[in-house]
Amino acid sequence: MTVEKFDAIVVGAGMSGNAAAYTMASRGLKVLQLERGEYPGSKNVQGAILYANMLETIIPDFRDDAPLERHLVEQRFWVMDDTSHTGMHYRSDDFNEPAPNRYTIIRAQFDKWFSRKVRAAGAIVLCETTATELALDGDGKVIGVHTDREGGIIHAEAVVLAEGVNGLLGTRAGFRKLPKPEAVALAVKEMHFLPEEVIAERFGLSGNQGCVIEAAGTISRGMAGLGFLYTNKESISLGIGCLVSDFAATMERPYALLEAFKGHPSIRPLLAGSEIKEYAAHLIPEGGFKAIPQLFGNGWVVVGDAAQLNNAVHREGSNLAMTSGRIAGEAIAMVKSRGRPMTSENLSLYKAMLDKSFVVKDLRKYKDMPALIHTNSRNFFMTYPQLLSQAAQNFVRVDGTPKIEKERATTAAFVKARSRWGLVSDAVRLALAWR
Ligand SMILES: Cc1cc2nc3c(=O)[nH]c(=O)nc-3n(C[C@H](O)[C@H](O)[C@H](O)COP(=O)(O)OP(=O)(O)OC[C@H]3O[C@@H](n4cnc5c(N)ncnc54)[C@H](O)[C@@H]3O)c2cc1C
Repeated sequence: MTVEKFDAIVVGAGMSGNAAAYTMASRGLKVLQLERGEYPGSKNVQGAILYANMLETIIPDFRDDAPLERHLVEQRFWVMDDTSHTGMHYRSDDFNEPAPNRYTIIRAQFDKWFSRKVRAAGAIVLCETTATELALDGDGKVIGVHTDREGGIIHAEAVVLAEGVNGLLGTRAGFRKLPKPEAVALAVKEMHFLPEEVIAERFGLSGNQGCVIEAAGTISRGMAGLGFLYTNKESISLGIGCLVSDFAATMERPYALLEAFKGHPSIRPLLAGSEIKEYAAHLIPEGGFKAIPQLFGNGWVVVGDAAQLNNAVHREGSNLAMTSGRIAGEAIAMVKSRGRPMTSENLSLYKAMLDKSFVVKDLRKYKDMPALIHTNSRNFFMTYPQLLSQAAQNFVRVDGTPKIEKERATTAAFVKARSRWGLVSDAVRLALAWR
C-alpha cells in the first residue's frame, strides 16, 4: 500500500495558515490544511483591522468579493483618565481612495472567505480536525502530523505551524516555549449591534467609511494595556487587553475592565442603545522581537502568532501573520522547485526572506519597547494620563487665573508626581526605545 504524502501540511486556518496554504497551493504544491474549529474563523478573535496591502500581495483582487465592513478614514488616539479623554484625531479624505488601505472585518466571515480561496487554489482543507502531535523520524526530522481522527500519521515533506499564539504542537515538540506571562496580553472583546445609520451619524461617516479609536490610560488601572473601539457596518467592536503578568499581579478581572471601559463617559454615548450579541477572549503575543522563537527546523517552519510575530506598538498582527505565512509558502515552494529536501538548512530560506521583510524590521525597531512599557506601566498608564488630563483642563478652563500661574501649576503637578529626574529619565528611555 502506498502512503499518501503531501508536499506540505498547514496546521491552522487563521490568517497565517490561509496565507501559507494559498501561496503553496496556487504554486501547484499538494497541500493539506488542518483546522480544529468547526469552520475557519470559528475560533479566531481579532479587533479587527485588516491591512489591505499585505492581503493584496497574496490575492490582488480581494476587494471584489471579500467580506469587508468599512474602510477607515479616521483614527482617534485617546489618552484617558476616569472622566476625560485627551485625543489626537487623524481624518483624511485621502483614505477615500479607490483601493483603501485599511478596513474593518469580522474574522468569522473573513476567514471563511479566505478558506474558500485556499480550496479554490487546490488545497484540501479539513475542519474539526486537531493536529495532536508532530510525527518525527529517527533523526528528529518532522515527517508529518498525528491528528485526533482515526488513522496513523499524515505524511508531508514540510509542516507549517500556523496554530496561533498558544502553539501547543510546536511547544510539545520542544521547538518553542510557551509564551511568558509578561510577553502575552489577554484581550476581551464584545460586539455591540446598532443600525448602520446610527453608527454613521455618531462617528460622522458616510457610505462605507469607518472610524477607529485606540485608547490608553487609567482604563487599564495601571497595567500595560489598551482599549479599542472599531466601527463595522452594523456593529461596534469594543475591547480591552492587558499583559497576563499584570492581571496575575493585580488580580484585576478582564471583564470588569471591559465593563468600566464601556461605562466611561467618553465611550458610553457611542454605544447607547446597542445590543450585545457576542463576546470573546483571546491572547495576543506582545513580547516583540526578543520573544521570537526558532522559526524553522528539519521539516518545519512556524508562522504568525505561533511565531510571536505581533507588533504591539502599532497594533498590527494579522498583516504580520499573512506576510509570514506567504513568505513561508514561497520559501517551501522554492525549495521544492529546486528539487531539494525540506531540511533545516534549506528551510532557513524562510528566515532569510522574513528578515528582509517589514515583519522582522519593524519588530527589531521596537525591541526594547515591551519591557519598557511593562516596567513603567503605572507611570505610563496611570500617572501620565492623569497629568495630561489636568494639564489639558488647566489649559482650556477660563477662571481668571493668570496664564503664568496656570503654566507653573501644570509644571509643578508633573514634578510633584514624577520629580524632575523621573520625567527626564522616562523621556530618555522612551526616546531610546522608540528610536
Ligand atoms: C482582541 C484582539 C484584537 C486584535 N486586533 C487586531 C487588529 O485589529 N488587526 C490586526 O492586524 N491584528 C489584530 N489582532 C491580532 C491578530 O488577530 C493575530 O495576529 C492573527 O489572528 C494571527 O493569525 P494566525 O493565523 O497566526 O493565528 P490565529 O488567527 O489565531 O489562527 C490559528 C488557527 O489555528 C487553529 N489551530 C490551533 N491549534 C490547532 C491544532 N492543533 N490543529 C488544528 N488547528 C489548530 C485555530 O483554531 C485557529 O484557527 C488582534 C488580536 C486580538 C486577540
